[in-house]
Amino acid sequence: MDCIFCKIINGAIPCTKVYEDEALFAFRDIQPAAPVHILLVPKRHYSSLADLTETDAPLTARLLLTAARIADAEGLAADGYRVVTNIGRDGGQSVAHLHLHILGGRPLQWIH
Ligand code: 5GP
Ligand code: ZN
Repeated sequence: MDCIFCKIINGAIPCTKVYEDEALFAFRDIQPAAPVHILLVPKRHYSSLADLTETDAPLTARLLLTAARIADAEGLAADGYRVVTNIGRDGGQSVAHLHLHILGGRPLQWIH
């Protein structure tokens, strides 16, 4: 599959890895929108959050819990941070592999 994040996960494209376990992978965004900008992805390819089903409930929970754990490890817990996932065209998704953005290190404006 010609997916840039699948290639990052399997090592074909280099990245700055932040976290890895058997199901998840996290790396720094190449164009950071904040001092800390990490992308957390499932190793299995899903196009977006909209691709997940009931069967994926444990993975979905692990994604969110791991995002919070990574934010904590990055020192973001005290001042706060944002976890967001973009879905499809109107959501502003540019890479069609489900990913959570973990953003922090400065006050963030809301997106209108
Ligand atoms: P989206 O717009 O789909 O929500 O987020 C995609 C994110 O992936 C963007 O923030 C973009 O900067 C990041 N990105 C795109 N290509 C690469 C890459 O090759 N390496 C890394 N580390 N990040 C990438
Ligand atoms: Zn993929």
